[in-house]
Amino acid sequence: MITDPSLINLFFVNLEGVRVLGVDDEPGIPEVHIELVRQLVGCPSCGVVARVQSRSAVRLIDLSMAGRKVALVWNKRRFMCIEAVCEKATWTELDHRIAAPRLALTDRAGRWATYQVGAQGRAVSDVASDLGCDWHTVNNAVLSYGEALIEHPGRFGDVSSLGLDEHLMVRTGEKHKLEFVTTIVDVQRAQLLDVVPDRKAEGPKQRLRARGSEWCAGVTAGAIDLSATYKSVFDEVLPHATLVADPFHVVKHANSKVDECRRRVQNEALGHRGHKIDPLYKVRRMLTMAAERLDVDGQEKLLGLLKAGDRFGHVQATWTAKEATRELYDVPTYELAQPFIDELIRDMADEGWPPEVRSLGRTLKRWRDQIIAWHKLHITNGPTESMNNLAKRVKRVAFGFRSFKNYRIRALLYAGKPDWSLLATITPR
Ligand SMILES: [Zn+2]
Repeated sequence: MITDPSLINLFFVNLEGVRVLGVDDEPGIPEVHIELVRQLVGCPSCGVVARVQSRSAVRLIDLSMAGRKVALVWNKRRFMCIEAVCEKATWTELDHRIAAPRLALTDRAGRWATYQVGAQGRAVSDVASDLGCDWHTVNNAVLSYGEALIEHPGRFGDVSSLGLDEHLMVRTGEKHKLEFVTTIVDVQRAQLLDVVPDRKAEGPKQRLRARGSEWCAGVTAGAIDLSATYKSVFDEVLPHATLVADPFHVVKHANSKVDECRRRVQNEALGHRGHKIDPLYKVRRMLTMAAERLDVDGQEKLLGLLKAGDRFGHVQATWTAKEATRELYDVPTYELAQPFIDELIRDMADEGWPPEVRSLGRTLKRWRDQIIAWHKLHITNGPTESMNNLAKRVKRVAFGFRSFKNYRIRALLYAGKPDWSLLATITPR
């Protein structure tokens, strides 16, 4: 049986200058009562020795210990200045080693929770249930410590290749309105640099300009999807950078044309959208798959179903155009990529092709330089992977990011490569 307060201090608190008053071991969460060792305190304004005016108990959730949740109850003193002409009336004692001001977690619990949520991608509600507190208590701590980590000047360093991409944040409201954000990415280091609201040009423009002209001059390459909006960001703020159309988005666009064509042909032939028994509906996934991923049976099935449902060969033509677009990325050099894409553009302009093929050809024409620039620089749009991973985790734990601030901090903690070794020393915001 430990009754010695200094031993209790050692096991439960382990902070110098803190005295343990006792442990309230009620069923539920045991409460360790503490206070700061009394010493003379001077007024922060005039320096005159202050008088204790009152005390109040502040309950803080601490790290769990030996499988039990623990709370610290800090018997906090409120001081008053006795100097008549001093304008400082009263103040409460603070000790950042115990807890940051305004947070209801102890300092060490706050840092631990930030790591669990930020680096491990755990749900705030999970971590709150581990600690025995509510969602907001953990979330507030993650925001305070997390912001200090992601705003640390070392994180957003010099960048030579920059990517802009759109990302779905959340579906809000009854109509499941989609809310998008724009991600700013260091595509060399696959690091998420920042997140700004919506898909307009103004947000990323402002954020990049704020880095200063020297930083902007260091960005020599950019990667974007086929978005005129993001192109305008580069044209205005980083006009010297060589722009690359991200291959993933180019192929995705070609696939969307195959889908569009399949739906149109189905509609024209059957007068309704695809049903399960329609040959073209059955084949819809194979159509957007890479051809080499289809085995011999798969290819036969694809051709058979196309023959049955694609009377004028439109779907097959669009599928072939999509495959030709993909082949562009097998061309070994920049010099060979130029005649290859020019021939594609010429071919697809032929009036004999279905509208989807011609539309794809126009897109290739509009983005020609950026598409083949990939053969020069071989950059793609960075940590889409870890962003998608975060989105999946978020979905799985059924946590909707209603608040952009919550989303930004969590995304940057997870995919923004903060220096986690600083977690022990940063000052929460
Ligand atoms: Zn004073």
